[in-house]
Amino acid sequence: MGATIHGVLERNARKFPDKDAFITATNRLTYGDMNRIANRLARYLQDEGVQRGDRIAVMSRNHEHFFYAFFACMKIGAIPMPMNIRLTPTELTAIFQNSNTAGVLYENEHSETVAALKAGSSLKHCFSIPESAEASAIFSGENLNMPMDSRDVCEILFTSGTTGTPKGVVFNHDRILAIATAVSANFSLTHKDSMLTLMPLSHSAPLNTFFMSGFYCGASHVIGDFTPKGFLNWIHQEKTTFSFAAPVAYLLAAKDADLSSYDLSSMRVFAYGGGPLALASYHQVKKAFQNENFYQVYGLTEAGPNGILLYPEEHLEKAGSIGKHPTVNMEIRVVRPDGTDSAPNEYGEIVLSGDSLMLEYDNNPEETNAAIKEGWLYTGDIAYRDEDGYIYIVDRKKDIIISGGMNIYPREVEEVLAKHDAVLESCVVGVPHEEWGETVKAVLVLKENVTEEELRVFAAEHLATFKCPRIYSFVDELPRNASGKILKQQVKRDCSLSRSCR
Ligand code: ATP
Repeated sequence: MGATIHGVLERNARKFPDKDAFITATNRLTYGDMNRIANRLARYLQDEGVQRGDRIAVMSRNHEHFFYAFFACMKIGAIPMPMNIRLTPTELTAIFQNSNTAGVLYENEHSETVAALKAGSSLKHCFSIPESAEASAIFSGENLNMPMDSRDVCEILFTSGTTGTPKGVVFNHDRILAIATAVSANFSLTHKDSMLTLMPLSHSAPLNTFFMSGFYCGASHVIGDFTPKGFLNWIHQEKTTFSFAAPVAYLLAAKDADLSSYDLSSMRVFAYGGGPLALASYHQVKKAFQNENFYQVYGLTEAGPNGILLYPEEHLEKAGSIGKHPTVNMEIRVVRPDGTDSAPNEYGEIVLSGDSLMLEYDNNPEETNAAIKEGWLYTGDIAYRDEDGYIYIVDRKKDIIISGGMNIYPREVEEVLAKHDAVLESCVVGVPHEEWGETVKAVLVLKENVTEEELRVFAAEHLATFKCPRIYSFVDELPRNASGKILKQQVKRDCSLSRSCR
């Protein structure tokens, strides 16, 4: 018993039957339309043999098809697993094997990939979403009313894979609705809001945090893939009130030469997360959009994500911080290895507790036990609090370099190198060293010529000797994942990245 995600869809269909709820480039669907289509598709899947508890990968861009599949699975107790559609067949195969995937619901552009993945695998139920939705027209659009419990597993999401391979993160209805209620309360969302969702729905923040919080209130949703112009156009045309994006997305949109031709006055909240917005960039977007309401969100898939907010008024005085105030229903601490609270300015690990934490890592009890201890999620983010209680991330624990027994935080070295006029981007990693265990390597993208010697002198002026990079390598581009994060493990592994210094 208890509330379920598809139960919210059914409630919205009754409460707001005629409102445009899912707006995409090609369609405008009401909550009633979405509920009917999901009911029909659910019956079709049942008829084809999909069982309660079956794990079904969903391969869709940001489109109404994503939600047909997502809600249809939930209505029969199957477990949707939204997939990053940029993953390679090899990466998908690894995920499908690890998570005992029973089938795939996909858009037609993925049909060849799915056919290849199906051959020789245990995938039983593979259906094109548009074709099966059409075929399901013969079934009833009435609610199925299958008995469900809010504690039933209802979704598996995958982490970005920034620090390794993506991990399956398991949620039930209770956990997701806890995120939705907390975030809607934080931002005072109502059914009058119009949420702009242009970040991939396979990621936890766009789906669990921001789509779900608006959905919970019966808001409208504009769904599409991000382009800078598309972002501005949607706000202008649909008078959206709320968006969530990676910082770089706002920066790209702010660079549009003709910003004055868009009416952006309907926007109430510009939320961003996954990384910080540097102070200069914050000023740039604030000025471009003539709006001060930028909220930084810190969280991770394993926490819903739900975590901590940096409010608009805190951006100036506490630039670089992720904030002080956790979201509703969350607690946040910075702790020492023994679990006690670290003192101001002392480095520790961020731990989170609240109703929205994952249930577990899929098929991985060891990692689950290492991540959740006594109700606290150990985030792997090293941070400190200032005297006012504001938290600053130092680095990710997995990225720390230990050289000659000294801890080196790559982010600190990267920030120094980024200040050099010739450096566009930097990625600092530890590489094995016979004597010191590890040594510091800087992989740089340059915007102008510079010698390695000049960089060495510059680093030595700003950093203690043991933190200075011993090896420099220069590349045209750094590898990134779909959410724009640099893939450090790949940089570490990929020796072919090196090329001679300009
Ligand atoms: P994997 O666990 O597979 O390596 P991932 O941790 O990158 O992937 P996500 O859950 O998408 O997967 O990312 C969460 C991480 O992103 C956080 O632990 C933190 O390091 C970083 N992060 C999130 N929000 C912010 C923010 N506002 N500022 C700085 N870093 C952030």
